[in-house]
Amino acid sequence: MRLVRFSRPDNSTGIGLQVPYGIQDLSLADPSLPQSMVELIDRWKTVQPRILSLSKKLGVTDQEVGILCPIDKPRKILCIGLNYRDHAIETKAPIPDEPIVFCKMPSAMIGPDEPIVLPKVSNSVDYEAELVVVIGKTMKDVSPEQAADGIFGYSIGHDVSARDWQKDKPGKQWFLGKSFDTFAPLGPAIVTTDEVSDVSNLRVQCRINGETLQDSTTKELIFSPVTLISYISQVMTLEPGDVIYTGTPPGVGVARTPPRFLVDGDLVEIEIESLGILTNPVRAAS
Ligand code: ZN
Repeated sequence: MRLVRFSRPDNSTGIGLQVPYGIQDLSLADPSLPQSMVELIDRWKTVQPRILSLSKKLGVTDQEVGILCPIDKPRKILCIGLNYRDHAIETKAPIPDEPIVFCKMPSAMIGPDEPIVLPKVSNSVDYEAELVVVIGKTMKDVSPEQAADGIFGYSIGHDVSARDWQKDKPGKQWFLGKSFDTFAPLGPAIVTTDEVSDVSNLRVQCRINGETLQDSTTKELIFSPVTLISYISQVMTLEPGDVIYTGTPPGVGVARTPPRFLVDGDLVEIEIESLGILTNPVRAAS
């Protein structure tokens, strides 16, 4: 299934399924379904059969809907640095032997087509196309084998990064440079694991104004989603609806000669095979 959140013309919001010809409005068809995606994931075992039977008989909505960020109020946004072999080589960094983990603030999250706003205090805002793992179960101290069962699905993420804040601040802290408002686009859909035949072989691309700047595959991932979950779960309890941005392939702006940073008016498209395309315009702060 391809789960989406959307807004209707009257500004009400709903949860639905993205199907080839449009969106099935699950919330309208069954108002007793959870209205929050995090809650829906949390109660998936009981709601999945209802959604499955609804999807078989429900037509697509004829309302003009706007797709929203698929996760409302996630509890955690975790991110992995330098997780593609080809990207580590590009940045001349050694291949890490343990995952590099940081986080982004949930307040940085935006959905498809919402503008990425360039902060006034940065002049090197960069793009990073990323596969995102959506957690389906509460997990603590799990093995990679157990972690496989706890993945709900996948989505497309953009780890927008202010390089000057990421690299030039005291202590080389990454958190602030990654957590400006609008710096965590996600979507359009959460695609459940059963619809992704091989997560270790998905093409990942980033295009700006139609020009392809990143083009790799998840074959290059150093730490797989299950390894990451197992590793992180030694430290913290992972909960349904938590997301992990799994790192970016080569081709980022800072590694180019000359560097290519985001500017007002750019249109960024991130495409991941089987998952779709996440599109966001770029705007200067007003
Ligand atoms: Zn990243």
